[in-house]
Amino acid sequence: MDCRLFTTSTVLSEVKKGKAGKRLEYLLASRLDVMEPAEDKVCDIMDWGEWLGDIISRTDAELLALAREVDAILLTDDYSMQNIASRLGIEFHPMLQRGIKREITWQFRCKGCKKIFGKKLDCCPVCGSELRRTPKSISTCQSGAGAADRS
Ligand SMILES: [Zn+2]
Repeated sequence: MDCRLFTTSTVLSEVKKGKAGKRLEYLLASRLDVMEPAEDKVCDIMDWGEWLGDIISRTDAELLALAREVDAILLTDDYSMQNIASRLGIEFHPMLQRGIKREITWQFRCKGCKKIFGKKLDCCPVCGSELRRTPKSISTCQSGAGAADRS
């Protein structure tokens, strides 16, 4: 089995500071390639995150873009990242926790007039009130392993 590992330089510097440091050392002991994803691909991911209502950091978007670009398995415990990965067909495995079992589609409900929007907006275009994120549908999905079946 191919076990090349990829990450971005931003992730590397963040991870070294955090709790996952030890785990990273383990990963480094195998093989780790530091690569930078294409800028427009990172923007794509940020757009997807916004559309899905999963707000992710620039660093997370870079990692997702990279996983997609090099067709690698994404290692992440971040729920939002897993949700986006699963939508984009990026195979992922959790590092510490178990993978998500549910895929959530979010919707945005106006606190004022209760109108529902499929996309996150700054405020309700009808009455100008704040929008609140609520799950629209929750479907069961398999974690990373399910996507492994490719030829
Ligand atoms: Zn409203």
